[in-house]
Amino acid sequence: MVKPLIAANWKMYKTVNEALQYLSAFKPLVQSATDVDIALCPPFTALAHVGHELQESNIRMGAQNMFYEREGAFTGEISPMMLRELGCVYVILGHSERRRYFMEPGMMINKKLKMALRAGLHPILCVGESEFERTEQETENVINTQLTDALEGIPSEEVAGLTIAYEPVWAIGTGKTATPEMAQDVHLFIRSFIAQKYGKSSAKELRIIYGGSVNADNIKQLMSKPDINGALVGNAGLDPQSFAKIVRFKE
Ligand code: PEP
Repeated sequence: MVKPLIAANWKMYKTVNEALQYLSAFKPLVQSATDVDIALCPPFTALAHVGHELQESNIRMGAQNMFYEREGAFTGEISPMMLRELGCVYVILGHSERRRYFMEPGMMINKKLKMALRAGLHPILCVGESEFERTEQETENVINTQLTDALEGIPSEEVAGLTIAYEPVWAIGTGKTATPEMAQDVHLFIRSFIAQKYGKSSAKELRIIYGGSVNADNIKQLMSKPDINGALVGNAGLDPQSFAKIVRFKE
């Protein structure tokens, strides 16, 4: 049984003060939630304060991106060691906004993934098709290519420990959620891809979460599907009350 992960991606929102206000409201709302892993992914500037506040809590912290070297002359970049030092457990890699606005190619995501694993971070690898690709019935091809590129050279035992986030680009920040059936179909495709290339037991252990306009009203139905093991939440993760409702979807 894969333990669900519910993670909030705050993107480029929240100053340190706003992040701390969020935590004072959010922590008590989810302190009794033990049957899910909970993660907050604040912007880099808030990581130190959030990490400090989350010590001894049931909430883990993640970063939204990282560079693929330990250190060096890479102006403006952040290394996995720096993230570990601040208390990050997770790192989101290959988010569609990184692919789209920062031209991150599959080869770079692969390097980041390898480095994150080496540094002891738990990667959340995002994949997903655009609206055009879905209408052209290219979804499976796109996911196949994104997974093949990102996972190149990563051994099965490490693949088994990853979290893969299926995030259809057309559903991100648009209010258009994939139906639970649509999401389940792609999650099953991802699990079958992993089973074929990395073995059945890796596929069984793999955590596949859904992202794209998840909210307190649709989480329960999404989570009722057998291959949906959690959610990556953007907008609805910015408000402590609505994110707590998503985390406590079973109640
Ligand atoms: C995201 O950016 O990862 C995301 C899923 O955003 P939203 O929930 O706002 O669609």
